[in-house]
Amino acid sequence: MGPALEDPATLEAALKAGADAVRVNFSHGDSAQHVRYLKLVRAAAQKLGRPCAVLADLMGPKIRVDRNAYELRFGAIVTLSRGRGIPAKGVIGLTHTGWFRNAKAGQRILLDDGKLELEFRGTKGAGASMSAQARVVRGGLLKPGKSLNVPGVDLGLPMPTTKDRADLEVIAEAGFDWVAASFVSSAEDVRRLRVHFDRLGLTAPIISKIENAAAVERLTEIVEASDGVMVARGDLGVEVELERIPTLQRNVIHAARAAGKVTIVATQMLETMIENPIPTRAEVTDVSTAALSRVDALMLSAETAAGKHPIEAIATMDRIIRAAERNLEEDIVSVPYGGAMAMMCEAGLYLSLIDSTQALVTVSTRGSTPRILASYRGNIPIVAACTSEEIYQRSTLYYSMHPIKVAPVHETEKIFHSIESELRKRRMVVRGDALVFVFGYPIHGRHRTNTIRRWVVEGRVTRRPRPAR
Ligand code: PEP
Repeated sequence: MGPALEDPATLEAALKAGADAVRVNFSHGDSAQHVRYLKLVRAAAQKLGRPCAVLADLMGPKIRVDRNAYELRFGAIVTLSRGRGIPAKGVIGLTHTGWFRNAKAGQRILLDDGKLELEFRGTKGAGASMSAQARVVRGGLLKPGKSLNVPGVDLGLPMPTTKDRADLEVIAEAGFDWVAASFVSSAEDVRRLRVHFDRLGLTAPIISKIENAAAVERLTEIVEASDGVMVARGDLGVEVELERIPTLQRNVIHAARAAGKVTIVATQMLETMIENPIPTRAEVTDVSTAALSRVDALMLSAETAAGKHPIEAIATMDRIIRAAERNLEEDIVSVPYGGAMAMMCEAGLYLSLIDSTQALVTVSTRGSTPRILASYRGNIPIVAACTSEEIYQRSTLYYSMHPIKVAPVHETEKIFHSIESELRKRRMVVRGDALVFVFGYPIHGRHRTNTIRRWVVEGRVTRRPRPAR
């Protein structure tokens, strides 16, 4: 989400073009803008009669340059200091300088996602007035507010940061559906974040962004502690060697899938579409490869936030994903949830595949069954009939998921008929099609998933349509 989608009609077009979820990046803008974006998405989704998950992306321990622009010439010596810099004197202002004492001479300092590079020389002064000297290795124009990375160096920033904690209050109050945590380095970081969630009564699931070497090293424990992970290739490609990205992406996807966790692949997916109306062959292949590895979501960043062709970028990504999914072979991986509930989900999935069912349907109050069903990554639409608004919005991020809203009635037949009629309306089923329901009986009690039922669609004969989203 960004200025390029702010106009309500454009945002509506974005959802129609295939966007199922929207990220609001807390690294940019202020609280008023973040809440306004959430409201804009809610309004657009409501107008279209469909859900759309909104993900709040915390800035995390990230350093940024101040709001000045700097011309950096190769070989020049610049000074780094806290606060606002003085461009004419070669003093670059930073949001945080606590890492100065942890950096050694020769350390690489990368600016603007690695487009510019400095070499750390050493420090001057002490305490709050400590500054650092650096030599320009790769020069150019450093634009205002750009990122600064010092790979492998402890930044001396807590996780969550003071800004993250303030943002979490806004997130809890406004009701965002998911929270992404930037620069997670350990399971302990995620646990610390959860303590703040509990204090605020925030129940949104946590997506840990894998974007530095520490996270790569502790991938298994981070996946275990999180509800999902994001391959955040923007910062990852600065913090580790670029050539490692493809294999790291594969490893993250495998680890998350084996643990039954949500996976998002992000950044530079259709980068050239920021300027151009069509992507490169390489970008198409990248998006397709990610879709073929059955991740829950692919994320666009600058393409839609600030690009010239936001709707075309979404529609292009949608077409590439659909083309890839038409060529997916069945490849179900058992998820490690264990227990009777997961076995019911797995059995329902197999029944629906053997039986050429149109969709696997669940009625969910707390969101656990849709989450488990999606994590098998079967080639079948999953319909989550949700009684809670929260689960309805959140579930759009899950693999192959079609959330619908249902009234919390107790009669099983009544609810199944209303689901059937909604699916007919969406042109997902026609008379004679089979559905498999996986649900907790009696419905809407606090019963865990314990029943599988095969259901044949009745009613008037209609022409088989192309499946809708
Ligand atoms: C990334 O680094 O790839 C990422 C998704 O994070 P951000 O867009 O906040 O830099």
